[in-house]
Amino acid sequence: MQIAGEYSILSSAVSSCVNVTLCRGDPGDALQMDVSTLREKAREAIQNGKLPTRSPDSTMGGPGCGEACALCGETLPRNQMELEAVFGEIPEMHKYHLHPRCFAAWECEREGRTSPE
Ligand SMILES: [Zn+2]
Repeated sequence: MQIAGEYSILSSAVSSCVNVTLCRGDPGDALQMDVSTLREKAREAIQNGKLPTRSPDSTMGGPGCGEACALCGETLPRNQMELEAVFGEIPEMHKYHLHPRCFAAWECEREGRTSPE
């Protein structure tokens, strides 16, 4: 399945080098919010507890679920890809649905927080 291949490529890109995802941009992505705005939102979301400060227990990619992105609040359309950050385990698992770019911005801000000043 072609789509699954794309997801796994993206997941590994996100975990190994988030900046690639951020810089490359996605011509098919209707979300034109720039990276610094996204990172600002990510920082706020972490500060006010909207998003966790630690890495997800697992990350999954899949087609958009039609819900709002946990970071930017834009809908995740079913014809576009989303990333799911999963915390905890069944039945108490909690999922955050995010655009790949929002996920990358969140990841950047998380890493920024944990590194010593
Ligand atoms: Zn988003």
